[in-house]
Amino acid sequence: MRWNLPTNKVPEAWFNVAPRLPEPLEPPLHPATREPVGPDDLAPLFPMALIGQEVSRDPWIDIPGEVLDVLRLWRPTPLVRARRLEEHLGTPARIYYKDESVSPAGSHKPNTAVPQAFYNRAEGTRRLATETGAGQWGSALAYACALFGLECKVYMVRASYEQKPYRRIMMEVWGGSVEPSPVDEPGHPGSLGSAISDAVRDAAGREDSHYSLGSVLNHVLLHQTVIGLEAKEQLAAAGEQLPDLVVGSCGGGSNLGGICLPFVPEEEVGLLAVEPSACPTLTAGAFNYDFGDTAGLTPLLPMYTLGHDFIPPSIHAGGLRYHGDAPIISNLVKAGRMKAVAYPQEKVFEAAVTFARTQGTIPAPETSHAIRAVIDEALGAKEEGVEKVILFSYSGHGLLDLGAYDDYLAGRLESV
Ligand SMILES: *Cc1c(COP(=O)(O)O)cnc(C)c1O
Repeated sequence: MRWNLPTNKVPEAWFNVAPRLPEPLEPPLHPATREPVGPDDLAPLFPMALIGQEVSRDPWIDIPGEVLDVLRLWRPTPLVRARRLEEHLGTPARIYYKDESVSPAGSHKPNTAVPQAFYNRAEGTRRLATETGAGQWGSALAYACALFGLECKVYMVRASYEQKPYRRIMMEVWGGSVEPSPVDEPGHPGSLGSAISDAVRDAAGREDSHYSLGSVLNHVLLHQTVIGLEAKEQLAAAGEQLPDLVVGSCGGGSNLGGICLPFVPEEEVGLLAVEPSACPTLTAGAFNYDFGDTAGLTPLLPMYTLGHDFIPPSIHAGGLRYHGDAPIISNLVKAGRMKAVAYPQEKVFEAAVTFARTQGTIPAPETSHAIRAVIDEALGAKEEGVEKVILFSYSGHGLLDLGAYDDYLAGRLESV
């Protein structure tokens, strides 16, 4: 029921999907001139190694040894067959999940935080500035900065800063310093878009600092492909061929990209993005060039977007409240290679509790979106009487989200 790989089986190269996409990726545009951005435009914010990865068309990119040494502290992550969930549903489908919750920060996010901290330190950066919603990304980056000796400044969406202290405390334990955002509007609950503006402003204004983003960008999805690469090997060890369907929740698209991108060349494998109805970028957004942040400081990215000033309702899946999506994910959806579905949070928590009561672990609210879709696919397979292999990304645990579960169990969830 569980397939582990030895630590020497962490992939030694990332899979670059860029040359395998259905359509070439459109370039990011400069916010002022609307011309394609060049390396010099990005140099105040990112190290050259990451700028190179952002535009690379090499099919594989080697993972530096120092990065592997850190990833091996918890990778390869287990592949688990959700046998007890299958039995509960009475489905002929075989459901597998890649358990990214075993990382030190409790999610997939350290997979990119670690290489980002490494490349910055290698090029002489001393400090990183970033944003975080509920704190998953901020805690992953604070962890990575601690291991590579960098200072870490996190602008945290104020509503979460006030309501969810535990992730702030994690960041502080790892040595990060956390400030509520927006910094110049103390009464404002904030949004991911405005916290990005604060972090970009900080990094652009200081010689010793760079900016770091936890999702959306090509190099972030690249770093996350260790998830799908390991899963391929583990599925083979479990006696499976290719999965019929690969599923992930989608905020900016990094855990989804991580598990799906290595399967893009295999056309028979279906890919599914799952998002909240309260922030339905892929299912109800428009494909457009839009800013990554609220203030319009970042380059314009070609993506599905609800508009950079869109403020979603404050659902519990804080990591899925972003107004846009990764250009790579947007490209796949636009070309029809990936499908997308949206769920209201009530249905999502119902699935999360079913999972917890069968498999035992308590998933993050973000992860539970994927679980909802997997349960519905498995029930569909039961109705049709077909065997089907489903793989999904268990992107994180929900042990710091128990307030959300409390709201669900007490019938206090906002119906959005
Ligand atoms: C941040 C987060 C997400 C959403 O972000 P993506 O970049 O879309 O993966 C999903 N699950 C968990 C547990 C997260 O922390």
